[in-house]
Amino acid sequence: MPIYKYRCKKCKTVFEFLKTGTSDTPVCDTCGCKELDKQVTAFSVRSEDPVPANRSCRTGTCSCSGS
Ligand SMILES: [Zn+2]
Repeated sequence: MPIYKYRCKKCKTVFEFLKTGTSDTPVCDTCGCKELDKQVTAFSVRSEDPVPANRSCRTGTCSCSGS
């Protein structure tokens, strides 16, 4: 399944969005903003992503990291 990574243009939160086949629109879990930069999740390229791969939420204040 393809996992897309998005970065919120407002609060800069980076999160991963698992596309499940429906046309769900990803929304920032932190601020609810829909203005997102889609990150390329090429499995080998992580050129300018300041957030470690195992942390989808930089602030830790939202529940977007899942469990
Ligand atoms: Zn946000």
